[in-house]
Amino acid sequence: MSFKQFNLHTQIEKGIEALGYTAPTPIQLQSMPAILQGKDVMGMAQTGTGKTAAFALPILQRLMSGPRKTLRALIVAPTRELAEQIHEAIGDLGRATKLKSVTVYGGVNKNPQIRALSQGAEIAVACPGRLLDLADQGEIDLSHVEVLVLDEADRMFDMGFLPDIRKIMKLLPTKRQTLLFSATMPDDIRKLAKDILHDPVTVRIGTGAPVSTVSHALYPVEPHLKTALLMKLIERTDTESVLVFARTKHRTTRVADQMKRAGFPVASLQGNLSQNRRQDALSGFREGKYQILVATDIAARGIDVSGISHVINYDMPDTVDAYTHRIGRTGRAAKTGDAFTFVTSQDRAFVGDIEHVLGERIERRTLTDFDYNVPAPSGSSDAGDRPRHSVGQRRPARLSGYAPVKRGGGSAQGAPRPSGRRSGTRSLEGFSAFRSSSKTR
Ligand code: AMP
Repeated sequence: MSFKQFNLHTQIEKGIEALGYTAPTPIQLQSMPAILQGKDVMGMAQTGTGKTAAFALPILQRLMSGPRKTLRALIVAPTRELAEQIHEAIGDLGRATKLKSVTVYGGVNKNPQIRALSQGAEIAVACPGRLLDLADQGEIDLSHVEVLVLDEADRMFDMGFLPDIRKIMKLLPTKRQTLLFSATMPDDIRKLAKDILHDPVTVRIGTGAPVSTVSHALYPVEPHLKTALLMKLIERTDTESVLVFARTKHRTTRVADQMKRAGFPVASLQGNLSQNRRQDALSGFREGKYQILVATDIAARGIDVSGISHVINYDMPDTVDAYTHRIGRTGRAAKTGDAFTFVTSQDRAFVGDIEHVLGERIERRTLTDFDYNVPAPSGSSDAGDRPRHSVGQRRPARLSGYAPVKRGGGSAQGAPRPSGRRSGTRSLEGFSAFRSSSKTR
């Protein structure tokens, strides 16, 4: 299967070639024909499946004809990082088309955004709050929007954006194409989809379980040894770039500081940072200046760093969905990646929930020559290590047509894997080759 089947404009094909995409991913294969025909689509797909290109390519194709310098496509995303990432993907794919995309999100000066809009762009990638702000001020004209994309709708719902989304809908022409993407389908999103999509084609890709190329391992550890284990694990593992998740802003900063002092090339990303420091952390991580990024869930939302080889859950996520989202950062577009999760004795019940969604037992690993017996410093109490897993977490339903594959060449339930080059690790052969051949930006 190649992209030729879609009969895209040659200038768009150039973008696809430049990014090194040789074959469409399953979400692209399944959704692009319907999107190209102008149909509404509900795409149940998580990050890492290639969903951005699945909607961006048909949008570019549509915009190749018709007026320029008129805002005709609106993409709404939950976070500025995701908005930036989509904007960059459109820039890369559409480089030869001369179509223009602008970003609209809060936390930064609005004037450059207003200027960019007034110069005439065909595509806006926006977060709900700032978009409504600019619309209220009459700085953005949504009356010519032909295509609306709501990306990561479940996350927008989690972040409380649903009322804003409904307000945005009122500003758009009723005759339009609407595409809604969501990794999970909570009731509120299902209802929103029912209200705003017209006779949609539904496409489901691997929803409910993390991207199947990711292999998982649990590292049981006492709370006070987590940082020491993290450093040892990274030293011992053949990693390209590592995204570490901690539970709170404070813990994120603390872990990154401890690692920095120990000489690791690390940056942190959490909601209290200025936009400049966020950008430095993100671009430094993407470009390899920082091999390790320690982040909170919200801050890491939408990060697309094509070469992430490992995700390490320093702290367990709060919900099974959050676990799915986190490890969607690795194993992107069918590369292999590893997801390591530190588990304390308090996390055990929640591990069962995750294994239920994965449909298999996750391997428990210990790191040889790591001293697990170092006692906790007296009087230490680490509130952040207390699990906050909510009761009755949403468990994404298992969907037909998606069966979790056995990972790592068929290692059976909990059976030991062939060990890697160094003790307690697996090498990621072939990963570097992929990176160099398909670098996206
Ligand atoms: P997404 O799910 O849109 O965040 O995409 C995940 C990653 O897959 C990004 O780095 C994309 O550049 C990459 N990607 C998207 N489509 C393809 C494709 N057809 N072939 C190879 N990589 C792709």
